[in-house]
Amino acid sequence: MAGNTPENPKTHILIKGARVHNLKNIDVSIPKNKLVVITGMSGSGKSSLAFDTLYAEGRRRYIESLSSYARQFMGRMNKPEVDYIKGIAPAIAIEQKVITSNPRSTVGTSTEIYDYLKLLFSRIGRTISPITGKEVTKDTVTSVVNFLISLPEESIVTLFSPLHPHNERTLKEELSILLQKGFVRVKWKGELAKIESLLEDKKTPNKAVQLGDLYIVIDRIRIDGEEETMSRMADSVQTAFFEGKGKCSVEANEEEYSFSDLFELDGISFEEPSPNFFSFNNPYGACPRCEGYGKVIGIDPDLVIPDKSKSVYDGAIAPWRGLKMGEWLKKLIDNALKFDFPIHRSYSDLTEEQKEILWTGNKHFRGLNSFFKDLEENTYKIQYRVMLSRYRGKTDCPECKGSRLRKDASYVKINEKSIVDIVLLPVDKAMSFFQNLSLTETEAKIAKRLLLEIHNRLLFLCEVGLPYLTLNRLSNSLSGGESQRINLSTSLGSSLVGSIYVLDEPSIGLHPRDTNRLSSVLKS
Ligand SMILES: [Zn+2]
Repeated sequence: MAGNTPENPKTHILIKGARVHNLKNIDVSIPKNKLVVITGMSGSGKSSLAFDTLYAEGRRRYIESLSSYARQFMGRMNKPEVDYIKGIAPAIAIEQKVITSNPRSTVGTSTEIYDYLKLLFSRIGRTISPITGKEVTKDTVTSVVNFLISLPEESIVTLFSPLHPHNERTLKEELSILLQKGFVRVKWKGELAKIESLLEDKKTPNKAVQLGDLYIVIDRIRIDGEEETMSRMADSVQTAFFEGKGKCSVEANEEEYSFSDLFELDGISFEEPSPNFFSFNNPYGACPRCEGYGKVIGIDPDLVIPDKSKSVYDGAIAPWRGLKMGEWLKKLIDNALKFDFPIHRSYSDLTEEQKEILWTGNKHFRGLNSFFKDLEENTYKIQYRVMLSRYRGKTDCPECKGSRLRKDASYVKINEKSIVDIVLLPVDKAMSFFQNLSLTETEAKIAKRLLLEIHNRLLFLCEVGLPYLTLNRLSNSLSGGESQRINLSTSLGSSLVGSIYVLDEPSIGLHPRDTNRLSSVLKS
């Protein structure tokens, strides 16, 4: 046996005497490193040959190659009914079945794109305060030292920490404890003083201290560019953050500079991004209201406004049609001019703000939210209970808007988009977002590998004909063909070489144009 003949197991997979199901003792040789298509009439044994013979044997051999420890999790595979199969590689089968064990699984998680997004956002995401739109940053010992050495040489800097008063301790008690800790000076009500002289001074009040009254002088340093001074600065800044519970300040050249190593802004203390922070499969990252499912039982807007071609005036809002509840509608219609609301425009043509106002209301009328709240508070009345039940259904969680993540996860942004914004984009739009990112040099360095992985997977999803899916799409809502192509793009994305891919009618439900793209992916 030599050369490139069909009998060579180096170049061909040889199957002899396959008899699985309705196969009648057939011999086949399949060329390797080629896209091979098995065609035939329904029931002619295509799947028996591809799955029950070729794949079954490939998988069996793969499992046998694993350790006995790993094997115990895999279940036993029977040898297919065949004389022999030679030249086979570990096989990966991609079936039509929609396989989902986790109801929270999405296109993003099953393709691993979401895992890379979590890493990307936790590494280079910037936290933006929802109050002022400013970036939340924190100081570190290094950043404060860098600031100090940027000051003109020969500057004298004083490092302060605010004293956090302790319960029931008087000023004098606080001062004696500071003295014991080795501090010498403080700033009391804006005046620098020696602790010892304050303790001796009869005028020093003997009552409790308020935060902001007393600052500890941690160190006074002359900036001189010496190595020794640098390490002394680092030690002192560290002490300053510790004594000040994350805050300290610097006085230099009659200016005062404040620093904080807390991740805070606008009076909010923010979480520092980590991969779990963006994980809806994890209690830490999941939206607390819907526990990461994205849906809750609540008022279903589609039931409240069933016919979107109707205008508000013509009764688009179903619960406000009756005579009694019509009072709610009347308030809106009578006042609509005051806030310029187009009551004769069909609901579908309203702007998002106008749709929103129907729910929130304003000072001229009460919206649907208060309407349903009223109903809920009066459910002892049977007609209210009936009415409520008519509009209840599974709806997008109001807390996370269906994104399943805790609300503050969307404060973290890359190029003004949060991870939630990205998973709501169709795959092709997400791809162009990542292609046009503008990053700093450091960010680009950190993100390089992650962006490559994300880009490859998004590209494969497009190439297998799924550019229209969003990463947030639930796996169990996909068609068989879509699900199979996602699995294919996942295996391709993880670039397992030397494997056999066994696919069952992969072009099912595909547009002919996309079928061509799919076969070019498989051939490459
Ligand atoms: Zn939620």
